[in-house]
Amino acid sequence: MAHFTVIGLGRFGITTSLELIHLGHTVTGIDIDEKLAEQYASDLTQTLICDATDERAMAELSLHDSEAVIVAIGEDMQASLLCVLNLKHENVSNIWVKANSQAHHTILSKLDVARIIHPEEEMGVRVAQALNYPMVNDY
Ligand code: ATP
Repeated sequence: MAHFTVIGLGRFGITTSLELIHLGHTVTGIDIDEKLAEQYASDLTQTLICDATDERAMAELSLHDSEAVIVAIGEDMQASLLCVLNLKHENVSNIWVKANSQAHHTILSKLDVARIIHPEEEMGVRVAQALNYPMVNDY
């Protein structure tokens, strides 16, 4: 069992969080939107309302307790990048980030994060593989 922090509880972030919980891990979910933090408070280990672009607010969280921090802020590239810089500043080493565009990917690739995630592309590959092997339907 490990502990994870997921920043951004949109469709991608909450799906990842709930699956980690399902797999037996503990998850801290963070969102700037208090409605989302409240909505998922009982589903996740804990939820926090925090602006991930706020360096001081982020420094107050115990981010080092996490095996990995997943940045699931997609649309607002500026917020995603500032969040990554804050995590770097806190010496978080295992950072996984969802990228929404090529520009986002290019900048992230210079920031030395552990993994850049492209949900649509990665899912497209998995769907093609599932169509190629219709007997295996585990995507
Ligand atoms: P998805 O496709 O997964 O629904 P998305 O790629 O459209 O998400 P957004 O909806 O822009 O991405 O962001 C995901 C979540 O991140 C939202 O719930 C939003 O409130 C949250 N978020 C955005 N900016 C910040 C921030 N500065 N700090 C914390 N959370 C944030």
